[in-house]
Amino acid sequence: MIENDNLISGYRQFRQDHYSRYRDLYDTLADKGQAPKTMIVSCCDSRVEPAAIFNAKPGEMFVVRNVANLVPPYTTIGDYSGTRAALEFAVCGLNVEHIVVLGHGQCGGIKAYLQGLNNPDAGGEFIGKWMSILKSTRDHVVQSNPGTAPEQLQLEMEYAAIQTSLNNLTKFPFIQERLKENRLQFHGGHFDIAKGELYSLDRKSGQFNPVK
Ligand SMILES: [Zn+2]
Repeated sequence: MIENDNLISGYRQFRQDHYSRYRDLYDTLADKGQAPKTMIVSCCDSRVEPAAIFNAKPGEMFVVRNVANLVPPYTTIGDYSGTRAALEFAVCGLNVEHIVVLGHGQCGGIKAYLQGLNNPDAGGEFIGKWMSILKSTRDHVVQSNPGTAPEQLQLEMEYAAIQTSLNNLTKFPFIQERLKENRLQFHGGHFDIAKGELYSLDRKSGQFNPVK
């Protein structure tokens, strides 16, 4: 039973405000099912709320959240592929037209993985293994940024991780099919928590530019 007063009062507020505002939309979505056009791969971080950042209505975005907003490489080995399952459903079941990998500043998963270079215990029981999706990305970022201050190195790593995830997306056969037919587009974004600003990846230049 949920007894946390904050959650209960928040829920009551949701019924009064959000749910009554979107009641008709919820009715339609319940009746006809969901048909979001966009999938977001976002971090679990409590400060990065995709629906708030994009001002999304119910049913508008299909969101999967994991530590450090990673798309793992394509493989059919392993039993518990939560993010891959979400991708498969979004692309093959819902036919989303856009996938956004939404990274963010001060990412704890990225920080732990960078610290793991000097402290193998920094990754805990599961996080280090999950973050090893970025092993070659980390090696590359660290080698190509010698002497860089830790905060800047972290930002470079957050940016590079988004690129790695976008690259991993292109290896899924069901995604390749749709890319060939121009039925799917990828986008990279990075949310700066301190400024509340979104940066968008220009895939040609590899630069993240502020969204005006
Ligand atoms: Zn994060």
